[in-house]
Amino acid sequence: MSFSALGLFPALLNPIEAAGYTQPTPIQQQVIPAVLAGRDVLGIAKTGSGKTASYVLPILHQLQQVGAFKYREPTVLVLVPTRELADQVQRVFNEFLPALSERQTCLAIYGGVSINPQMQEIGKANILVATPGRLLELIEKNAVKLSSIRILVLDEADKMLNLGFKAEVDQLLARLPAQRQNLLFSATLSADLSLIQQLILRNPQVIEVAEDAGDIDLIHQLAYLVSEEKKGPLLRYLIQQGNYQQVLVFASSTLKTDAIVNKLVKNRIHAASIHSKLSQQTRRDVLQQFKSGQLRVLVTTDLLARGVDIEFLPCVINYELPRSPKDYVHRIGRTGRADSPGDAISLVSPEEAAHFQLIQKKMGKRVKTLSGDVIV
Ligand code: AMP
Repeated sequence: MSFSALGLFPALLNPIEAAGYTQPTPIQQQVIPAVLAGRDVLGIAKTGSGKTASYVLPILHQLQQVGAFKYREPTVLVLVPTRELADQVQRVFNEFLPALSERQTCLAIYGGVSINPQMQEIGKANILVATPGRLLELIEKNAVKLSSIRILVLDEADKMLNLGFKAEVDQLLARLPAQRQNLLFSATLSADLSLIQQLILRNPQVIEVAEDAGDIDLIHQLAYLVSEEKKGPLLRYLIQQGNYQQVLVFASSTLKTDAIVNKLVKNRIHAASIHSKLSQQTRRDVLQQFKSGQLRVLVTTDLLARGVDIEFLPCVINYELPRSPKDYVHRIGRTGRADSPGDAISLVSPEEAAHFQLIQKKMGKRVKTLSGDVIV
């Protein structure tokens, strides 16, 4: 199937070609026609499947039909859980926005940066990509109204409906007009159908892209049972022996990420961390360095487990296991993407062994486990 067969307005085909997309991905083949037909959609697909463009492209098609919008009354709202994902989604909109015949803008809105520039810019944007808390602040300051929103997207919807965000998301939903199109996306949504009902999807088209068998095989999972004090030496050994150009390391806390980075740097391995205590500018710079290949090891918390697209990442290492089995799947999903294979290695302390069993059970896959203490 080609993009031209999907019914998108012709000018959109140029930036699609310029982006190097030769044909729609499976999720795009199904989601684009459903959104164009005005349906509510529940899309279940991993980051890396092309899900962002699957909603960005048909939304732009609809904006092309509608044309003008009122100052401070945007018509498209995309809610996301992290600042990084907000930036990433905004970039995808910006890639395709020039195709519209009338100039329109997309603004990413999130906390951790000064609110004033956002106050000034928000009135001019017709598309908002926002984390919930800062958007509520801007609404309270009368910088924006949500009463003209025609399309709502919840990206990483399971996360957005989790306890941490739910109250804020509910407050935002209460401000939206009842007549709107709702698009929900999540990598994992299966068991939580009751949560979706709370969002009152109208007769949604459920689109689930079957996990490609080859896709799972792209991730070579391996675990080392290792005492806590040997995790550091084992991490360095794995990075060097594996000869990985780049490695993403996950730890459980901000403090831990900094401690791991210090040890790596002392051992002359180029590493930096991203976590919630850093300024947004630092987070953005470090992520950019990592994405462009200038940084070898990025150590982070579950902040980066979801959504963020890093091309050709050869290795993910869990220095500590995540609490939730779902987050394990999200973390290892940062590698083995876009048809390039990757390694996902977990360092499991004796205290974590039972939890690792549970993760494997939930995932439905056994992971080969070696003894790490004999190596280092
Ligand atoms: P996403 O799942 O939205 O995070 O997208 C993952 C990656 O796939 C991004 O780097 C996109 O640029 C890329 N991508 C999206 N759609 C296509 C397509 N039809 N063909 C090739 N690459 C694509």
